[in-house]
Amino acid sequence: MGSMFCFQCEQTSKEVGCLRSSTCGKEHDTAREQDVLTCEMIGLAGAMADQNEDWGQTIDLIIDGLFTTVTNVNFDTAKIALLTNEVRARRKKLGAEIMDPDDLFHGDENLISLRSTLLFGLRGMAAYAHHARVLGKRNAAVDAWFIKGMAALGSEHTVDEWLGLLMEFGDVNLQCLALLDEANTQAYGNPVPTQVSMKIEKGPFIVVTGHDLHDLQMLLEQTDGKGINLYTHCEMLPAHGYPELKKYPHLKGNFGTAWQNQQKEFDELPAPILFTTNCLMPPKPGYADRAYTTSVVAFPELNHIDADADGHKDFTPLIDHAIELGGFAEDRQLVGLNDGANLTTGFGRQAILDNAGAIVDAVKTGAIKHFFLVGGCDGAKLGRNYYTDFVRNTPKNTVILTLACGKYRFHDIDAGMIGPFPRILDMGQCNDAYGAIQVAVALAQAFGCGVNDLPLTLVLSWYEQKAVCILLTLLSLGIKNIYIGPTIPAFLSDAVLNVLVEKFNLHPISTPDKDLAQILKKG
Ligand code: SF4
Repeated sequence: MGSMFCFQCEQTSKEVGCLRSSTCGKEHDTAREQDVLTCEMIGLAGAMADQNEDWGQTIDLIIDGLFTTVTNVNFDTAKIALLTNEVRARRKKLGAEIMDPDDLFHGDENLISLRSTLLFGLRGMAAYAHHARVLGKRNAAVDAWFIKGMAALGSEHTVDEWLGLLMEFGDVNLQCLALLDEANTQAYGNPVPTQVSMKIEKGPFIVVTGHDLHDLQMLLEQTDGKGINLYTHCEMLPAHGYPELKKYPHLKGNFGTAWQNQQKEFDELPAPILFTTNCLMPPKPGYADRAYTTSVVAFPELNHIDADADGHKDFTPLIDHAIELGGFAEDRQLVGLNDGANLTTGFGRQAILDNAGAIVDAVKTGAIKHFFLVGGCDGAKLGRNYYTDFVRNTPKNTVILTLACGKYRFHDIDAGMIGPFPRILDMGQCNDAYGAIQVAVALAQAFGCGVNDLPLTLVLSWYEQKAVCILLTLLSLGIKNIYIGPTIPAFLSDAVLNVLVEKFNLHPISTPDKDLAQILKKG
């Protein structure tokens, strides 16, 4: 048996690193190929940083290479090797050398911690840049930072220099998130509050999971009028709030819960599933022939649908498969983890800011005492019940903003209303973190204070690398007192964690009651 080392996600083995086997199902040779690809990209970026040229497609390649290495995206060693070869050919053309892949995560503990934090942040930002790009949006400063950041990984820096790079990266990632927000809202409109059914209607259907709204739109167009219904899954749920997507009557509702339950939930499904991004788990034999991947997502021998040179995807095999399987014979009412059958989404930045006056008044009169942003990724750990209990225990005069798939722990709970608003407001995917930041900034302006002075606390759950880049953005904005769990990232050394705790008052979560009491004591 070979060996590997990977500690980039929350489910890493023993909270140290996956060595002999991986929790996510990544094989040794895949992990190795991802490390080689990463080192090739670092070498290529190092050479590009020295030259003043328009790198266009080479940056696309680096973005896709980074996205490929995000947790639960690509398990296909042969496909990753093709990307590596392309990067290697460009790197060699520029005459650059590469570091030994064995050294990627080995060396001085604190320097490796800081370098890995930047690498994982870049992997997360690549996902957001990829989504913006498929909608035709690019940003020169973000592109330039992919080169700068990757090149920085190949050179030596002091601890202070690394910390400076991490804060600079956080700022650039905010620009990338803003770009994606612009891409999504220009293409599909500003999300509007929307009730989402969890009933699966009889007849053929397709389940679409992941984050890529453009893939969903193409599939909605290609299934229009064909008698096939589409259901979102996991991070695709917020698609229901976008006017240009919700206008399709066959976008019916949401299937299932968060990604970590897919092996159970997809097993008996009489329908195909399209994985547009993470989180893909190794498919069980019961549904492997019904699982389709696209873009950078891949698993050996799964059906894969690629884009043509114009970015168009032909989903005919998936559509034919849905018709052949036929769906359920009768309607099925499904429920969430807390037995709730009603979901709402679409409380994006604009929907909330449109009501900023009423919200500010509600705070001034005491109707709203505190805001919690309980968001981030879900995962399999038992300790993640913390987030369900936290939300359940919040006082009735508080509002819970949420985004990303961590909300599946609690978003079907009927938490009541405050004025015209549900107490739980779904702001969208992790991709919509920009909207949450804008709401916080707008509230601070309305109250004439800083974000840290607002009656607002961020209670975050992390799993993969997109959470890393969002955390770095929040820290670069100077946001303090963030609660983070379910565990502290294994790649943060004690010394680096201490710096973050001292500088930003970062809190590892404890118990819902203890944390709530501490937060509400401050007001
Ligand atoms: Fe382990 Fe996570 Fe890396 Fe998979 S992505 S090998 S679970 S650390």
